[in-house]
Amino acid sequence: MKALVLEAKFKAVINENFPMPEIGDNEVLVKIKAVGVCGTDFKLYRGEYGDGYPLIPGHEFAGVIEKVGNKVPGITTGEKVTAVPPVPCGHCSYCIEGQHNHCINRMAIGVLNDGAFAEYVKVPVTNIVSINELSFAKATFVEPLACVIRAVERSKVKLGEKVLVLGTGTTGQLFAQVFRSMGCEVYMLGRNAIKLKVAEQEGVNILSSKEKSEADIIKVNIERIDILVDAIGQPQLTEKFMPVLRKGGRLVVFGVSQGTLHLNYFDIYRKELQIIGSFAQQEKFSQAIMLLKNNVVNVDALISHQGSLEDVKELFDKGKPADLIKFIAFI
Ligand SMILES: [Zn+2]
Ligand SMILES: [Zn+2]
Repeated sequence: MKALVLEAKFKAVINENFPMPEIGDNEVLVKIKAVGVCGTDFKLYRGEYGDGYPLIPGHEFAGVIEKVGNKVPGITTGEKVTAVPPVPCGHCSYCIEGQHNHCINRMAIGVLNDGAFAEYVKVPVTNIVSINELSFAKATFVEPLACVIRAVERSKVKLGEKVLVLGTGTTGQLFAQVFRSMGCEVYMLGRNAIKLKVAEQEGVNILSSKEKSEADIIKVNIERIDILVDAIGQPQLTEKFMPVLRKGGRLVVFGVSQGTLHLNYFDIYRKELQIIGSFAQQEKFSQAIMLLKNNVVNVDALISHQGSLEDVKELFDKGKPADLIKFIAFI
């Protein structure tokens, strides 16, 4: 089969003859129709994440069931599906407690195991989710949206709260739309005018750090934020906005960074600040599908680029254009 393979750091190759995945008794073979490019895919390409090479990346995908293992009940070929990427072991202490995203023996399709930048991917039946009438392109957003839903729920948001989202990428946009749908006043900070405009069209108040310094933005545009979301992975930027969190405010750490966040210890104590990390998810796919199906979030506007596997290779090699929100490859 044809696949986009990471053979080493900074080495993405189109292989026309990659061996077809062989499915076990409890697995299915999915013929890929659409797959989204995620920040994690770039990290895998740059060798900043993952378990080594070779690897076919791609964990935000949708397709059609091509083949079903011998011991798989209730699924038939031709069904339109997506899949939950993490594959928990089911028997470690975290799995026993139902905290599957913390599984210590966790595998992950497209991150630690071969993924969906290919014609086919194999998936354990436990991870298959039907997309029914959703389009393949929309269904590629189920995974990132599911992760965002988990973070939003962990923030314990209340109707009418004020939220500031740092970052204009796919997750920043999804956070802004989900918080809007929950009756919040949402602000988004970013530098790219095109990406900010996309959020503005969804009723988000936009703040351009290209036009004004962060200090001016804080002085003029915002005060007393209930929830601050780092959807970009920039601790230093987050530090600048911590003083606008009101007493009892929450910081949601979602963006990925190995950096350090410097906070005043007294502020955390006196203002009763909460710092809430949120990593992946295992159980939020059906909620994400409901939000997409009912157009609670509008992902059409987030597909800024699309193309083929060859175009994804070029995207890896050349780097992200500034106006990229989501690239969808159609296979
Ligand atoms: Zn992703
Ligand atoms: Zn486990």
